[in-house]
Amino acid sequence: MNFRSDNESGAHPSIIEAVSTAFSSGSAHSYGADEWTLRLERRLRELFEKPDLVAYPVATGTAANVLSLACCTPSWGAIYCHPQAHIMGDEANATEFFTGGAQLRPIDGPAGKLDSRRLADALAQPVYGVVRHPQPSAVSISQATECGTVYDPVEIAAIATSTHRHGLKLHMDGARFANALAFVGCSAAELSWQAGVDVLSFGATKNGALSAEAVVFFDPALAREFLFRRTRGGHQLSKMRLLSAQLEAYLTDGLWLANAQHANATARRLVAGLTPLKGTQLLYPVNANEIFVILPTRVHDALQKAGAQYHPWPSDRPGERAFRLVTAFDTSFDDVDKFLSIAKAASSQ
Ligand SMILES: *Cc1c(COP(=O)(O)O)cnc(C)c1O
Repeated sequence: MNFRSDNESGAHPSIIEAVSTAFSSGSAHSYGADEWTLRLERRLRELFEKPDLVAYPVATGTAANVLSLACCTPSWGAIYCHPQAHIMGDEANATEFFTGGAQLRPIDGPAGKLDSRRLADALAQPVYGVVRHPQPSAVSISQATECGTVYDPVEIAAIATSTHRHGLKLHMDGARFANALAFVGCSAAELSWQAGVDVLSFGATKNGALSAEAVVFFDPALAREFLFRRTRGGHQLSKMRLLSAQLEAYLTDGLWLANAQHANATARRLVAGLTPLKGTQLLYPVNANEIFVILPTRVHDALQKAGAQYHPWPSDRPGERAFRLVTAFDTSFDDVDKFLSIAKAASSQ
């Protein structure tokens, strides 16, 4: 019963097999000139219905975020994001480092979502061209958010409108893009560039890959410096097929969406079982595969005793303890049901 994080999951057998095949079928061109990497870009063009997009694999989500953001801003720029954004709190200032000094500016909003009106106000400040002021350059939103909620295309478009009105670029941290898409049920295009996203960090590691993400530029002009930045940043793998083979298998036969649908479904089953119990309360609506919930001490203690694993989470409600549960593509319904029966028994004692 491990609900600590979707990055503690294993990897999907089809992805492991694809990597194995890629390395046991002889030699291949290095540095991304191999057939896997070329096919991957074609596949992403089809998936996103965007024949001119360009896509580059990297090994971590942090690299995807910061290398793509570095293409969106000068070193004197400002990047706007939610205060809980991964780039703000979980990447050890890598954005500031890789952009050569661009500043992150928080724009708050409920349940992990950046408030589009607050953003519009911030971007309307008369700082453009004033040499003392950091120059607004990019907006970054996380999909799904760090609170497990999901932006729909209309919400993204509202953010994109003011972003583009002032000439900024819109970046999406899609470490859980598949989970978000599985929730919204629209097309990948509608949830990204058609809503105004300029560049996407397309996650796979948390949803069945060994370790692989892709940076997807919907505007190829924005990608001009990317390859230099990726090499300088140490993410130009000489055996790039290690990443591309994973991503190709991830996108084959809808594996990526099936994995995300499973993760979301196990999260929904957890929510349906937990929320009727007395004293439990969700901190945020559960849209994807992350659950933030207040658990009564009795229930928490019983679950801990039975070996269930999940992280404590800060709660601003005095006397109440909140926790985060994350499901993944390989979470079993049996584990969910076991967890729920322990919680239920402890609750009714
Ligand atoms: C996991 C995650 C990332 C990527 O993290 P890495 O550890 O660098 O792979 C990025 N953004 C969000 C929102 C995440 O949850």
